[in-house]
Amino acid sequence: MPNHLPVPHDVVIAGAGPVGLMLACELRLAGVSVLVLEQAADPHSPLKRLPFGMRGLSAPTIEALYRRGMLDDIAAPQRAQDGRAAGHFAGIQFCHDDIDASKWRFRLPSPAGTSMAVEMASLESVLAARATAMGVEIRRGLGVQALEQSDDGVTIRAGGVTFHGRWLVGCDGGRSMVRKAASFEFTGTAPEFTGYSIAVEIADPDKLAPGRRYTPTGMYTYARPGTIAMVEFDGGAFHRSQPITREHVQAVLRRVSGTDVTLTALELATTWTDRACQATQYRSGRVLLAGDAAHIHSPLGGQGLNLGLGDAMNLGWKLAATVRGDAPAGLLDSYFGERHPVGAQVLDWSRAQVALMRPCRSSRALEAIIRDLIATPDCATYFAERVWGVSLRYDLGGGHPLVGRSVPDFELACGTKLGELLHDGRGLLLDFGARSALRAFADRRRDRISYVASDARDRLGLSAVLVRPDGFVAWATDIAPDPEETAQAAARWFGEPDAAYQKA
Ligand SMILES: Cc1cc2nc3c(=O)[nH]c(=O)nc-3n(C[C@H](O)[C@H](O)[C@H](O)COP(=O)(O)OP(=O)(O)OC[C@H]3O[C@@H](n4cnc5c(N)ncnc54)[C@H](O)[C@@H]3O)c2cc1C
Repeated sequence: MPNHLPVPHDVVIAGAGPVGLMLACELRLAGVSVLVLEQAADPHSPLKRLPFGMRGLSAPTIEALYRRGMLDDIAAPQRAQDGRAAGHFAGIQFCHDDIDASKWRFRLPSPAGTSMAVEMASLESVLAARATAMGVEIRRGLGVQALEQSDDGVTIRAGGVTFHGRWLVGCDGGRSMVRKAASFEFTGTAPEFTGYSIAVEIADPDKLAPGRRYTPTGMYTYARPGTIAMVEFDGGAFHRSQPITREHVQAVLRRVSGTDVTLTALELATTWTDRACQATQYRSGRVLLAGDAAHIHSPLGGQGLNLGLGDAMNLGWKLAATVRGDAPAGLLDSYFGERHPVGAQVLDWSRAQVALMRPCRSSRALEAIIRDLIATPDCATYFAERVWGVSLRYDLGGGHPLVGRSVPDFELACGTKLGELLHDGRGLLLDFGARSALRAFADRRRDRISYVASDARDRLGLSAVLVRPDGFVAWATDIAPDPEETAQAAARWFGEPDAAYQKA
């Protein structure tokens, strides 16, 4: 392929879905140039709007949006209603009243709660507007078709045009062309069912019971007047094999509901499966994967978007440091090391839900047991931890129990919340004791790390905390900090200080 573009972008991203756009914003925040190539000419789709475009966000995602100052824009039209129902596992609800949040030692009250709902269309439009305002170039109607790597970059063919980037990230969804073109291995488990999301007109709606129903032949969820999600255990055979017609979905609905319900019109329909696969590596040379391009699973658990946005937050600052040339050894590889296990857990979580949904006696027996357990405080708390993502902790190799967790939203003495200090995407050293040795250290690292000396309303027993750009704790101590130890932790994530700052 010819390599004729005069100025290659630092990073080319395939896919302007939520993950590609979030990653683009993170990279620009860290000062690298970004081009996004999107296959679809038009970003709008009825499937991104309510009811099918509804997505549940969990704590790490909401915290990321809050820390970058986007939460109000995204949350404004549709904050989740706080009813008794707090979330679900395979449709079995756990309740707020049963959750013992006092077990979460490192969570403090924050504008970023633990769960909320958004519309995909609104999330994407907020992210696209932010990316554009930051200087990201988004080109639509250009699907990546082929790529070729060299030692210093990647040449990309998209929509018949050639582009060049120093790095390429495939955020191009579950059927990722980047993943295939760069020969990533993608392994996992085969589908057991075809799932349908349909908007229909029903002649005799009383034949369907509202809410979620498990039946001897599958599962359906019905919301009046005509929104239905249903699952038929056909081994995933129908998905994308034929056009979705009214006659077909009526036949499936009749089988799954065990009724002779009649559909008079099919307004909107899409199918999905529970195929669960994950790339065995997230990086091949100068090509990386994030979001659905790196992992797919059943949407029933409602976690894929959260997983992908977590990838973007984790990858952005690490790839930016690599592009700038100031990344410490192993920083970029820690993206896979940290995010692959999180993805694997989510895939297993979705497989466990499929096992419970199977139309067989043993699954109904399992369902009955889970229903009993989920109503107990210990189990409700466990399910909330998993579904809301509050148990997420990267294994950063020991140290304080806060290390590897999302930083608590400390309220500083002046009333400012910590999350408000993370808008610029830099690291942050929070020194509750205002010690001169830490200040002197921070002065030498001011190229990468902001320094904040303040007491807090509740310090959680801490003395100092070093926060990574993605909002996760790199280092923390309950006792008077040793500047040498602080310097080592900083060097691990931020590299050695520039000579100019070293002298300061
Ligand atoms: C019915 C349903 C309900 C769901 N509910 C939830 C939920 O409640 N919570 C949750 O966390 N997740 C949920 N998910 C999953 C979530 O929607 C996905 O995980 C998320 O959209 C993945 O984002 P992405 O940016 O990785 O991929 P996508 O959203 O698929 O975006 C990929 C983008 O890449 C573009 N593209 C494709 N090929 C190319 C190419 N060759 N070149 C350039 N661009 C390309 C596409 O046009 C698209 O814009 C649900 C999914 C479904 C189907």
